[in-house]
Amino acid sequence: MPAQAANSAERLDIITKSITRAVKRFDGSGHAVTLVAVSKTFPAEAIVPLLDAGHRVFGENRVQEAKAKWPGLKAHYPDFELHLIGPLQTNKVREAVALFDVIESVDREKLAAALQKEMQQTERFLPCFVQVNIGQEDQKAGIAPDQTVEFVEKCRKTYGLEIVGLMCIPPADQPPGPYFAQLAELARQAGVSGLSMGMSGDFETAIAMGATHVRVGSALFGVRD
Ligand SMILES: *Cc1c(COP(=O)(O)O)cnc(C)c1O
Repeated sequence: MPAQAANSAERLDIITKSITRAVKRFDGSGHAVTLVAVSKTFPAEAIVPLLDAGHRVFGENRVQEAKAKWPGLKAHYPDFELHLIGPLQTNKVREAVALFDVIESVDREKLAAALQKEMQQTERFLPCFVQVNIGQEDQKAGIAPDQTVEFVEKCRKTYGLEIVGLMCIPPADQPPGPYFAQLAELARQAGVSGLSMGMSGDFETAIAMGATHVRVGSALFGVRD
């Protein structure tokens, strides 16, 4: 298990190799899978070793927390790519568009409208994923599966957003495979190619179902408090 590695740079190496193996098993072609290193709850000092190891794609789930950490890192590592993977309130859209490079959690029309307005004003047009509540769980954010295709269309046509894919967090207490397969099918129907699915415990399964982005936190940084 990656957790046995001594430090996060070693764990990065192990996980990168696992991803490569999983991609080869999946289709032999070695299609690109982006590792989004989820650094939420970990301080800047914990992120630096991964930046020094050459990793550049990171995920955070809270705007305020990301704002406290990442601008300081920018001076030394200007070329990182930061993904917002948590719920976004419309009153934080301004800060989010300024700080992040990809928004993975577009889940309602009001947010799509606010993002459009802010991106037009700042001329900072960020690629977005639509978050799908794939297990239809009350406590989770995301658009309902049966509304996803229509919502993607609306985000593109009505709000002019660049929707590059779908994102989901499957139910914690069930095998994730069928949910990943369902997200892949919805992406096909919606005509988007990006699939952000799979976390520390199930990223290999997600890759077997066609993930293009895996979001890995604890397997890289350690257990969160
Ligand atoms: C925390 C989080 C992750 C990473 O979870 P791990 O199990 O620590 O890998 C991935 N995606 C989202 C949306 C998260 O909030």
